[in-house]
Amino acid sequence: MGVLGAGQLGRMLALAGTPLDCRFVFVDPSPGAPAAALGQHIACEYTAPEGLAALAACDVVTYEFESVPVEAADALADRVPVFPPPAALRVAQDRLLEKSAFRDLGIATAPFEPVNSEAELAQAVLKLGLPAVLKTRRFGYDGKGQFVLNEPEDVPIAWAALLGAPSILEGFVHFERELSLLAARGRSGEIRFYPLVENQHERGILRKTVAPAAAVSAALQSGAELSATLILERLAYVGVLALELFQVESRLVANEIAPRVHNSGHFSIEGSRTSQFENHMRAILGLPLGDTATISPSCMLNLVGSLPESAAVLEVPDAHLHLYGKAARAGRKVGHITVRGATESELAERVAILEALPGVREAP
Ligand code: AMP
Repeated sequence: MGVLGAGQLGRMLALAGTPLDCRFVFVDPSPGAPAAALGQHIACEYTAPEGLAALAACDVVTYEFESVPVEAADALADRVPVFPPPAALRVAQDRLLEKSAFRDLGIATAPFEPVNSEAELAQAVLKLGLPAVLKTRRFGYDGKGQFVLNEPEDVPIAWAALLGAPSILEGFVHFERELSLLAARGRSGEIRFYPLVENQHERGILRKTVAPAAAVSAALQSGAELSATLILERLAYVGVLALELFQVESRLVANEIAPRVHNSGHFSIEGSRTSQFENHMRAILGLPLGDTATISPSCMLNLVGSLPESAAVLEVPDAHLHLYGKAARAGRKVGHITVRGATESELAERVAILEALPGVREAP
C-alpha cells in the first residue's frame, strides 16, 4: 500500500491495514512524520521521482493528506490504481469546484460567488449580503485562509488578510450545529454510512465529536446519505469520504468534503464495529465493507497543542488514548481520546472528567 502523506491519518490507516497483511510505503517530506514508525518512509516532496517510483511499485496507492499535488496523484494513476480517484482530490482542493459540484448535484450549500479582486469582493458582498465568509479557494484548513465580513468596511481588510488569493465569498450560515457524515464506497460500488456525528470547533479546529449526534431524525440521516451518495457516484469514488454539514433547523447545508479518512471519524476506532480506517482499507483493496453500526455512544476529544498525563486519561473507564508521536505546539493536533459510555449520561460524566484534566484543553 502506497500512501501520499505520513501524518496521523496514515499512522491509523497502517494500524488498521496491518491485520490484513498490508505493508506500507509512505511519502511525506517531513522527517519523523507520525506514520514513519509503521512502514517505509520516503522523506521527499510528493512530486519527487524517487517517491513516485516507490509508490508506483505498490499494489494500490491512497492519500491521507488533502493538499498533495493533484499532478502527483494523476501521474501515479497512469501506473497503479489510485483510490480515491484523483478527480476527488481536485474537487476537494478547490472550494469553487467543490461548491459548484454541490450545486450541480442539487445539494443545498451556502450561496457563494467567486472572488478574484477587491472590486469583485465588493460586488459579491452586495449580492450575498452580510455577514459573509471569504475563503481562499485552495489550501484552507482548520479555519485558516478565512475571514468573516460583518460590515462593508471589512472589504479591503478581508481582501488584504487573504493576500489577494483567488477566493470565494459565502453567505454566512446561521447554523444550529455542525455535523458530518462518514461514508465508504467499495470498488464494487457498495456504499456504507456511519451515523451522523456532531462536531464542535474552537478557533477553526475540531475539538470534539459526539457519535452518534443526538436527536437525529431518520429524515436528517437519509438526507445526508442521499447527498453523499450523489457525490460518491459522481466522482466514481472508492474509499472513505467525509461530508461536512451545517444543520439549520431541520435542513442540512453542505460545507465541504474531505476525500479521505477524517478527524470526525476517529471515534469509529472504538465506537463502531468497523473503523473508518479499516473500511478505507477494505474499500481500496476491493474487499467487502464492514459493518458501520455503533457499539456504544462515544465522544472523541482532540488533543490540540498540549498533552495530558497518559495515566490520568487511562484511569477513566473505557477511555482510549491515541498519541501521534508529534511534539506539542500551539494549534497542532497531537493526539485524541475516545471515550465510550453505556448510556449518554455515563458518557457525559466521563467526558467531563477527561475535559477537566490538565492538558486536555489547550490553554487559550
Ligand atoms: P471550513 O474550512 O469551510 O470547514 O470552515 C471552518 C469553520 O468555519 C466551519 O467548521 C464553520 O464553523 C465555519 N464556517 C465555514 N463556512 C461558514 C459559513 N458559510 N457560515 C458560517 N460559518 C461558517
